[in-house]
Amino acid sequence: MGATYRGRFAPSPTGPLHAGSLVAALASWLDARAHGGSWLVRIEDVDAPRCVPGAAELILRQLATCGLVSDEPVVWQSQRSDRYQQALNPLIEQGHAYPCGCSRKDIEAALQAHGASRERHHIAVYPGTCRPERGGLQGKPARAWRFQLPDLAEVTWTDRRLGPQTQDVATEVGDFILKRADGLWAYQLAVVLDDAAQGITHVVRGEDLTDNTARQILLQRALGLPTPAYLHTPLVLGANGEKLSKQNGAQPLDLSDPVRALNTAALPLGLPRRTASMAQALAHWTQVWANTWPA
Ligand code: GLU
Repeated sequence: MGATYRGRFAPSPTGPLHAGSLVAALASWLDARAHGGSWLVRIEDVDAPRCVPGAAELILRQLATCGLVSDEPVVWQSQRSDRYQQALNPLIEQGHAYPCGCSRKDIEAALQAHGASRERHHIAVYPGTCRPERGGLQGKPARAWRFQLPDLAEVTWTDRRLGPQTQDVATEVGDFILKRADGLWAYQLAVVLDDAAQGITHVVRGEDLTDNTARQILLQRALGLPTPAYLHTPLVLGANGEKLSKQNGAQPLDLSDPVRALNTAALPLGLPRRTASMAQALAHWTQVWANTWPA
């Protein structure tokens, strides 16, 4: 595989890097280097209302301070709307996507009418109200575009760290959104199209994203795109035992001492502490990494 390996780090610029996101960045960089491959950075700024002005530039500077620099020009999702639309059109034509006129309230009401509101991560499983075979929009204006799950939506895949995974997307998620009611592109569509456009062979990202993988594999199949190998890295927990995130007040990284920040990020990855220079630490970990979670 060697020279063909292409990995990436794809932060959403909703704030500066924090200790948790540096773990994913370091892991994806080490994996690319250990395989003799390329490491790319993609700024996932499709969700404009959640993006913080200047955060993307800050993230890129923070990464560079840690010696992590994209091998190719950075890709910005906000500049790729036309590509996303070009991919949605054939999905619609081939019956893989349909317009949905349901508001959140409509979905909750439909779920309640069915007895129980099945929820996963506080997201209601879409009951398929606007599916074409159920009569479609029935006069409602189109709000969003949804992916029409295939009849068999149970996906099995093997994570390089977590092992075999199975998710029945029909019962756990339902027909998910590709283009939102506010006109913004959904993460699932953008990430799948961009991983393919950038020729990504290996995705290494935080474990909080594991749950999205089955949806992404279904989309890849519908679009005729290859499925990369996946490795989800351990999460860094905050003092309250919850995943460290910008939302629960993770402190921005102190990069006045990048070797220290990298050493802290290396711990959850099972890598030994290195007090050497940044370049030596990265070179050493790259060697150790190959035996940690082989491809
Ligand atoms: N942009 C996503 C995030 O920052 C990561 C997407 C991915 O790695 O697939 O949570």
